[in-house]
Amino acid sequence: MRILKGNPVSRGIALGNVFVYKAFTADVHESYFEEGHAQEQLQKFRDAARMAESELDRVIEKFSSVSEEKAKIFAAHKEILNDEEVVEGIEGMILDDHAMPDYAVDMVFTEFAILLSKAKDPLIAARAADLRDVRNRVLRILKGEKEMNLAHLTEQVVVVAHDLLPSDTATLDREKVLGIITEVGGATSHTAIIARSYSIPAVLGVPEATEILASVGHVVLDALAGKVLIEPDQQTILEYQVKLAEYQKEECETREYLTKIPLTASGEKVSIGLNIGSTEPDEGFKYSDFVGLFRTEFLYMESEHMPTEEEQVAAYRKVLANAMGNPVTLRTLDIGGDKSLRYLALPKEENPFLGNRALRLCLSLPDLFRTQLRAALRASAFGELWLMFPMVGTIDDVRNARARVESVKAELRTEGIAFDENIKVGIMIEIPSIAVIADLAAKEVDFASVGTNDLTQYLHAVDRMNAAIVDYYQSMSPSMFRMLGMIFSEFNKAGKPISVCGELAGDPLAAIPLVGLGLRKLSMNASNIARVKWMLSKFTLTEMKEIAERVQLMATQADVNQLLKEEAAKRA
Ligand code: PEP
Ligand code: MG
Repeated sequence: MRILKGNPVSRGIALGNVFVYKAFTADVHESYFEEGHAQEQLQKFRDAARMAESELDRVIEKFSSVSEEKAKIFAAHKEILNDEEVVEGIEGMILDDHAMPDYAVDMVFTEFAILLSKAKDPLIAARAADLRDVRNRVLRILKGEKEMNLAHLTEQVVVVAHDLLPSDTATLDREKVLGIITEVGGATSHTAIIARSYSIPAVLGVPEATEILASVGHVVLDALAGKVLIEPDQQTILEYQVKLAEYQKEECETREYLTKIPLTASGEKVSIGLNIGSTEPDEGFKYSDFVGLFRTEFLYMESEHMPTEEEQVAAYRKVLANAMGNPVTLRTLDIGGDKSLRYLALPKEENPFLGNRALRLCLSLPDLFRTQLRAALRASAFGELWLMFPMVGTIDDVRNARARVESVKAELRTEGIAFDENIKVGIMIEIPSIAVIADLAAKEVDFASVGTNDLTQYLHAVDRMNAAIVDYYQSMSPSMFRMLGMIFSEFNKAGKPISVCGELAGDPLAAIPLVGLGLRKLSMNASNIARVKWMLSKFTLTEMKEIAERVQLMATQADVNQLLKEEAAKRA
């Protein structure tokens, strides 16, 4: 039995069959066939088109009862496939120019897609992405490759991929995916975040996983220890069935804490926030005091076009309704880095994580930003909505972003549209340059939330996506705790709310020194709420403060981890 190692980023154990997922990429060259084969090549295209149509029919039927919106997207794909001009264009190239069917398909679809993407109306421009989707479907069939899609799997499987795009994870079938294994990505990559929020066990950063597991049937995914056991023997399977039962029992014990008020052993209240990335109902709403992070980029990534103002208003109102009166911290669009939008072409950058991402990108795309701000402000009339900007590096960033909010507010006032005049405007602290001037930042904003995923990346100069240097990515280093302590104390001094919404806040061991350092608001995925509440209940505030002092004086992250584990074990 062979064992592969990786980073366990979403806790759990899964036993199941492997499904190696490779998104299709078309590789088409200009090519022609010889005289006398026109009918044969034409038939090839027509057969592929018919197959594409029946694939689409199946998808439409599947979605028609669960998601009308998704069914509509695929119905539109069918229309494109049968569009007279498209079909005539392709068949003309095959019959008249003797172009190979794949080349003809590629040329015609691409030509139409370019035409559409230039349209002024964003809704029409967005159809270009649909054209490319249909083109890929037909090309894949012509190449004889099977359909690969995580949205409609037929059985429960452990998904193995080089990497999952945010759009893959956003649409994956949560019931069918038992576990996730990828070759790249660390604990704070978006695959990891989604896996945790769906409670799907995941081990990322497993080198050559797709190649090694391509011909494998069954695996055990141990996302507690970070191991993948290939074709386990009967003995191992039995052992893991026992481990799985034990794990589920521990989950049950801590689960009791889900419904409890989060209190330290000495009775201080800590507020628990919820991190969300969709408009779906989440059971975490019931067990949290606020939404500390609503990642709006998922709305953009799931869509086939730039979400319109109306679509966004509807989505934000839905989240406010889900939150049942609790404040919702809406983070404005955070793309760039490892996240892109299929309908928004951005220049390739040498260092995307240091590039034009998040707030920087929004400031450089005024229409896009304005639409989101208008939608957020309009939604603020229907609940308590806080507005938060990601990737703020300077006070100039804060002022520029606030100026855009003010100008949108003025617009809405002129139009007589209701919004919350006193909406709270805050920032994420995830770049060291703003962290070290936390005292000045606190004067300019109503609140802040620390994004420890990026703060670790930028403080330690370690790419959060690079599995090869995962040991350098130290969210629990003494440097991180010193920096966090400074941020919390400046915001507490200024009397401005401060929270942490990075993954660190959902780690029960980290919660101890965080509260000890003065933090009273921790925002996390629903799957961590019970364990964090449970851990907080074991320590008095004085104990947490002492531990916080000690971790800041330690030399290494390993020392910090050891201390926290020992202290937790004493109270188990
Ligand atoms: C963070 O950086 O900690 C954060 C919460 O934002 P994201 O993970 O979406 O970059
Ligand atoms: Mg971030």
